[in-house]
Amino acid sequence: MQNKGKINVQTENIFPVIKKFLYSEHDIFIRELIANAVDATQKLKALSGLGNVEGDLGDLTITVKVDKEAKTITVSDRGIGMTAEEVDKYINQIAFSGAEEFLEKYKGEDANMIGHFGLGFYSSFMVSSVVDIISKSYQSGAKAVKWSCNGSPDYEMSEAEKEDRGTDIILHIAEDSEEFLDEGKIVELLRKYCRFLPVPIQCGEESHFEKPAGDEDNKDAKEIEVKVPRIINNTQPLWKQSPSEIKQEDYLKFYHELYPMSFEEPLFQIHLNVDYPFNLTGILYFPKVRNQLEIQKNKVQLYCNQVFITDQLEGVIPEFMMLLHGVIDSPDIPLNVSRSYLQSDSNVKKISTHITKKVADKLEEMFKNDREDFEKKWDDLKVFIEYGCLTDEKFYDRASKFMLFKNVDGKYYTLEEYKTSIETLQKDKRDTLVYLYANSKDAQHVYIQAAKEKGYDVLLMDGFLDTHFINFLEPKLEKSRFVRVDADVIDKLIEKDELSPSKLSDQEQTSLKEEFEKCVDKDKFSIEVASLSEKELPVMITQNEWMRRYAEMQKMAGQNGLYGNFEHYNLIVNGNHPLAMRILEEKDDEKRDKMTRQLIDLAMLSQNLLTGEKLSDFISRSVDLM
Ligand code: ADP
Repeated sequence: MQNKGKINVQTENIFPVIKKFLYSEHDIFIRELIANAVDATQKLKALSGLGNVEGDLGDLTITVKVDKEAKTITVSDRGIGMTAEEVDKYINQIAFSGAEEFLEKYKGEDANMIGHFGLGFYSSFMVSSVVDIISKSYQSGAKAVKWSCNGSPDYEMSEAEKEDRGTDIILHIAEDSEEFLDEGKIVELLRKYCRFLPVPIQCGEESHFEKPAGDEDNKDAKEIEVKVPRIINNTQPLWKQSPSEIKQEDYLKFYHELYPMSFEEPLFQIHLNVDYPFNLTGILYFPKVRNQLEIQKNKVQLYCNQVFITDQLEGVIPEFMMLLHGVIDSPDIPLNVSRSYLQSDSNVKKISTHITKKVADKLEEMFKNDREDFEKKWDDLKVFIEYGCLTDEKFYDRASKFMLFKNVDGKYYTLEEYKTSIETLQKDKRDTLVYLYANSKDAQHVYIQAAKEKGYDVLLMDGFLDTHFINFLEPKLEKSRFVRVDADVIDKLIEKDELSPSKLSDQEQTSLKEEFEKCVDKDKFSIEVASLSEKELPVMITQNEWMRRYAEMQKMAGQNGLYGNFEHYNLIVNGNHPLAMRILEEKDDEKRDKMTRQLIDLAMLSQNLLTGEKLSDFISRSVDLM
């Protein structure tokens, strides 16, 4: 048989176009060829299982050979192979028309938008000047066939010599792609795309150290270097195994196999195993996320039948799910498409919703089954759950049942429990329930103490999403508001009816206010004389809740403009404190001034506002006063 022909395409120059389109993704040719080789091998196994293949299948390892001198890369499998008719049908007709259809579809789009996709067998022309196929079908009596094509629509087909069943794809690497003629590079690509394929893949050899034959049990024998075939993949990745047979240490080991550069241990994992309404397996690990820097180090990897597709999952799974690590594998995820396609694919959408549900289920189950353990993990889980609530209303509906709040004493409550525990004391005169919180136990210590003395409870909201989260949560709770402990003096944080009567006359209040005004920057501080309990501090500095939150949000959004730098404080003088009266009664101007400044500085200290020259002044004045 000697046969020349024209491939069935309308677009004459299909290859230059393919090359140009796939510029940024040239390396996927290896994934496509290996995926075909795996398919052919799996088909053979299936046929053999049905009794349709004669004899023993033998070693089914797929090999990849890089020959620098001949400038070829050869991918060989021992799968079902193809007859001449099949080559004609699958390669000349079907595959080409697929490639052409693809080009038609994406003609107008820019290459970056296309992103990640494959073109099956024809992607090999992205790196080759000529591609040969030598194949022999598994069917008894089949003759081997050779197909060769230089990238024009013209191909040649002839009979060939091939002893073994299966297919060799020989890529004659084009001049502009010679970087692929490096075994190290090919191994790297194989490890990226083919690490968990179900058929062993071998490329080159690697060193192995062992005791010489016959000396295996000899303690004194020196290990020698031996070369062994380098197997790229783990054919039995953990997510494909049954959860009931897996130990926790296996999950941890697999985590490190996935992310060799990560030394952190994950918190726990979810093993996904779904048959209906679609097929999905995978393992999702919960990392410890406490700050922004830790986000997105180890990305979730998407697989289709164990073939790596991508770890660029923006828009494919919900944003907060991207905080997780691990793998998702589904034959229902289309392999040869762009990410924009993935994002709009209805199967992918269903899968994404389902995963979110599974994750919520698992968290709820953990909360119900072992509250103590859940509390231990909470600080590391919090960012994930808050992020989930902020971006996915449905997730919030689920999470509001098991989400925890921690108070400054380290005690954990659910939302419902917390509400009940503060209801009696923390309602103000308008019947609004006031949730008090602090961002830092140290920085707001004085205010926390004042609240505790009143019998109030203070939540610790020190996570980097907490300001957002409070803004989100507040309107969802009925007649409730959140106030940071230093937003006002304690009597006004939760305003009750019984206010202490003022011991000062109006005239005295005005003089006291003027006295303090002399000593502070009026742009930064508003001064107010309040009649508080004698037991309260004489002077306090507070920051309006709304202004502070607004400034924080602006800061987080990176807008450090007008409001980001807007720092304004209230300086509250307790007119009922004995020291207020002493200031008013002091006749010596200098002494009075010193006392006033001292009180202001003490209040500044409790807000961490006293630094530099002001701090030095305070220290020397304190010494003087003693
Ligand atoms: P796809 O794999 O998406 O079907 P390809 O263009 O990669 O598209 O391949 C076209 C067809 O060629 C395959 O469906 C298969 O029938 C055949 N084929 C490709 N590679 C092999 C191989 N190594 N062994 C047997 N058949 C193959």
